[in-house]
Amino acid sequence: MNECNIIRDVLPLYAESMVSEDTKAFVEGHLKGCDECRKELEMINKPEIIQTACDAVPLAGIRKKLVMKRIQTVVLSVIMVLAIAVVAFSYITKPIHFEYTDDLITVTETGDGGVLLTFREDVAACSYESMPSPENGEGKYYFVEAWTSRLLQWTNEDTENKTLTAYPTVGMPQMTIYYTQNNGEEDVCIYGEPITNGGVITQPRLALNYYLFTALVLFAVLGVLWLVFRKKARVKIGLERAILFPLSYILSHIAICGLSGVSYTMTRDFELILLVTLLLYCVLLLVYNVIRIRKEIKEYI
Ligand SMILES: [Zn+2]
Repeated sequence: MNECNIIRDVLPLYAESMVSEDTKAFVEGHLKGCDECRKELEMINKPEIIQTACDAVPLAGIRKKLVMKRIQTVVLSVIMVLAIAVVAFSYITKPIHFEYTDDLITVTETGDGGVLLTFREDVAACSYESMPSPENGEGKYYFVEAWTSRLLQWTNEDTENKTLTAYPTVGMPQMTIYYTQNNGEEDVCIYGEPITNGGVITQPRLALNYYLFTALVLFAVLGVLWLVFRKKARVKIGLERAILFPLSYILSHIAICGLSGVSYTMTRDFELILLVTLLLYCVLLLVYNVIRIRKEIKEYI
């Protein structure tokens, strides 16, 4: 490896006295014996000398080079803050579903064939999905769920009771309403005739586990390739950059879902994981580049 290349990587930082004492000594040692790098340093220092001598050049132009270098640091900080914000947002807005209890839902017939469901005060939001009867296509089934979130628990501004009204299909008065607990327990029939004698369980979506598994496999494959090619500097660096991506995904999955891939709100969780993955990847890549340059310098000291 050519020492001059390393020196030139750090020269801009050296010119601004932004390097450690060790690096400074190392650079100065090299400059004493290397004309070309000394010229390079002069080139770096030159524009500012010209511009201070020439008042006509706008001040904005003078600072441009300096600003560009600072921007890197700022970008890194901003991305990190964003990533942390997304994880925090995910945590405080994650739906917390209610287990069924007798006082959770009050069921009232409205008189026009509809059924009014009134939820307990601490329920912050509710929704339902409906489908035709799975047995004979006649009648209608509703699956109702209710949840809150940490954010809604803390703010607790709206104490108005949440309600839903369910209507049967016209001409088919048969209607069954289930409450979905979203905790692996059976759905509870709260109105009408149950679907079958057996219980109905709304299963969590498991796809996130497959994505996590894929990321782990990719991580392992790149790890093996790294072991094989670690002697080839270029390939090694490429692999190290690539391996940061599955690593970002794995860390993001843990940040959003914990170690479990069981999710009742899969779309939401997956979108958040992808967002954090991208942010985290940028952070890791920037940190990696800084560490790599420092390491190369140390090898020569
Ligand atoms: Zn040199």
